[in-house]
Amino acid sequence: MVTKQDYYEVLQISREADETEIKSAYRKLALKYHPDVNPGDKEAEEKFKEVAEAYEVLSDADKRQMYDRYGHDGLNGGGAGGFGGGFGGFGDIFDIFFNGAAQGRGRSAVQRGADMRYDLEVTLEEAYKGVEKTARIQRIETCETCSGNGAAPGTKPTTCTTCSGQGQIRHTQNTILGTFATMSPCTRCGGSGRIVQTPCVTCNGQGRLRKAREFTINVRPGVDDGMRFQYPGEGESGALGGPPGDLYVFFHVKKHPQFERQGQELFTEAPISFTQAALGDEITVATVGGEQGTIVVPEGTQTGTTFRMRGFGMPDVHGRGSKGDLHVSVKVDVPTRLSDEEKKLLRQLAVLRSERPLHEQKSIFDRVKEAVKEAVAPSHED
Ligand SMILES: [Zn+2]
Ligand SMILES: [Zn+2]
Repeated sequence: MVTKQDYYEVLQISREADETEIKSAYRKLALKYHPDVNPGDKEAEEKFKEVAEAYEVLSDADKRQMYDRYGHDGLNGGGAGGFGGGFGGFGDIFDIFFNGAAQGRGRSAVQRGADMRYDLEVTLEEAYKGVEKTARIQRIETCETCSGNGAAPGTKPTTCTTCSGQGQIRHTQNTILGTFATMSPCTRCGGSGRIVQTPCVTCNGQGRLRKAREFTINVRPGVDDGMRFQYPGEGESGALGGPPGDLYVFFHVKKHPQFERQGQELFTEAPISFTQAALGDEITVATVGGEQGTIVVPEGTQTGTTFRMRGFGMPDVHGRGSKGDLHVSVKVDVPTRLSDEEKKLLRQLAVLRSERPLHEQKSIFDRVKEAVKEAVAPSHED
C-alpha cells in the first residue's frame, strides 16, 4: 500500500487550522484539481480525491479528533466511519464553489450497493478447527424477472427524451473563474436515462428487491473474537447497474468454560490430588482440539505451577501453520471428608514430618508468653 499523505499537508494548512481555514483551503484546492477543470488529467483527479478525502475527515469534528490522535489508522480500524466505502466521488463544482460541500449530489442515478454487516458467533472449538456456517441474510438484489431494468417481461424501457438517455443534463455557467460545464441528474427519468412504460410486477419497476439468501461463511481455523472478514461484492446490489456493496462478517467467539484465550495462547486449569502433587505423576489434560495431552508433574509441585504444552494452542488464522501453546496451571485439591483410616495415616505422616497436629500447637501468643516467663524467672545458679 502507498503511504498516505498527512491530511493537513494535503490541504496545506496547520494542525491548528479552524473550520473556516479548512473550508477555504479545500475550496481553493478542489477548484484547482476538479476534473471539470482538468479533463482527462489523471494526476489532477488523484489530487482532487486526496483533497476531498482530507476535507471529509478534517471538516468532521469527530473524525478529525480520531485522525489527530491515531492518524490514518484511527479512521480505518472498524470504528466510526471505518467501513462503508468512505469518500464517494466527485461533487458538483458549483457545490464546492458556493456551498463548500463536495458530497451529497451524485452526477447520475447509478449507485454502488450498500455494504452489509453480519455478526457470526462461533464456539472456541469451531474457531480452533474452522467450520462452514450458513448465514441467512436479507439483502437487496437485482430483480431476476426483469434483469434489473424494471420493465415487465416482453417490454423494454424506452429512452428518456428529456436527457436523450444520458440521465444527466448539461449546463454551462459563467463564473469569475471562467466557464464551466456541469451536469445534473435528469429529473424526468431519475437519472436512469430510461422510462419504464409497463413496470415489472415482481419489483414494482424498481429493478431491485429485497431477498432472503443463504450464504456460506467459511470460518478459518484460528479466527478470533472481534475479527472481521470482507466478502467483496456480496453486499446489496447497486441501483441501475451500479456495482454491488461488500459483505462484512464480524466474528464473535463464545467464552469457554474451560479455556481462556489470549491470541493464539490458551490457558486452562488442571486439578491434581495432593498425593500427586507431593509424589509427582503424569496427568492427562483435555485440549480444545479434543486430543488428550499429558504433562509430567514433578514431585513437590505447588498449586498454581504452570506447565506449557507446546502446539496445543490456537492455530494461526493466516494459515501459516504455527500453533500457540496451552498453559496448564495445576490446582492441588485438598481432600475434604476423610475416612478414619485416612485421618490416621495423615496423622502418622505429620508425626514423621515432625509436624505436630494443629490442636497440639501453641499459638504464637502462648509461645511469646512462655519465652517471657523463662527470661524473667530467677536462675537456680544465682
Ligand atoms: Zn423486476
Ligand atoms: Zn432523462
